[in-house]
Amino acid sequence: MENGKVKIGVLTSGGDAPGMNAAIRAVVRTGINKDCKVIGIHKGYIGLINGDITELKSKDVSDIMNRGGTILHTARCPEMMTEEGISRAAAIYNILGLDGLIVIGGDGSFRGCKALSERGVNAIGIPGTIDLDISCTEYTIGFDTAVNTGLDAIRKLRDTSSSHERCSVVEMMGRDAGYIAMWCAMTGGAEEVLIPESKGVITSDMVIEQILMNRSKGKRHNLVVVAEGVGGTVKLAKKIQDITGIQTRATVLGHLQRGGVPTAVDCMHASMMGYLAVKAILDGEKNKIVAFNRGRYELIDINTALSMTKKIDSEYYDVVKLLSI
Ligand code: ADP
Repeated sequence: MENGKVKIGVLTSGGDAPGMNAAIRAVVRTGINKDCKVIGIHKGYIGLINGDITELKSKDVSDIMNRGGTILHTARCPEMMTEEGISRAAAIYNILGLDGLIVIGGDGSFRGCKALSERGVNAIGIPGTIDLDISCTEYTIGFDTAVNTGLDAIRKLRDTSSSHERCSVVEMMGRDAGYIAMWCAMTGGAEEVLIPESKGVITSDMVIEQILMNRSKGKRHNLVVVAEGVGGTVKLAKKIQDITGIQTRATVLGHLQRGGVPTAVDCMHASMMGYLAVKAILDGEKNKIVAFNRGRYELIDINTALSMTKKIDSEYYDVVKLLSI
């Protein structure tokens, strides 16, 4: 505490996600409203280790809610994987006189929070990743925007693939998780979806068999969604074309899905989670993740959060298939 004011640090870490800026804005404005000093830390944990900071005032976060990316920048920080790096980050936290550190990021960033919490840092995590792959929460900031970007691409590809009676194979981001791909497949009306969670169960031969069956039923175009964690999209498109004779095009969305104006859903969760993270520090909570489950926000202990697991309901796959006939 400095001059009686609670001092809160905020950083964004790991992969960026649309809505991170809305979360930073919420942290800063809630903090200022509650008479705290808010310190922005640049480039994630690297900035903490190097003491690369700026005090954030209300006007510093005006007009950022509708911008993708993160004004604090983000990075991966290998030093945090070492004892020296973690100790240095904790030492800087103490030198800066912080009462809490808000980390907006994914699972990896939360492992950094856990390591810091073991050295006396009070770390509060806000789930920010397009991949939705954080087990302790049903929502992660950035997911809705990434799905909408994917869906927009699918709709455009459908126009052209149906005009030419082609097959489209579209790869969606998501690292090792298939949430974005599954949501895009369902909402884009895909005929097939390949996600890491069903690797080995759904094979490329099964996809080709399905496309041939669709053709025999008179379907003129096919859409196959592939998750980044499965990969091999260009190869799959070639295989489909070689075996079926149907012109097939591959599209890999890649980092396009990381950018863009965050949707209302992302801005809403980011605003609430940013507010709740500051409130948690002021309420004396220690080392928690702000989560959204069963329609409510909650705080989950960092150790519990990191030991949780979640998986995609296999019924989603069944429904995609059921609706594609
Ligand atoms: P994300 O947070 O999006 O999952 P990463 O997995 O790349 O992204 O993690 C972001 C950063 O978090 C890493 O670069 C590293 O600085 C820190 N981090 C990841 N895992 C650990 C760990 N086990 N211990 C300490 N810090 C970690």
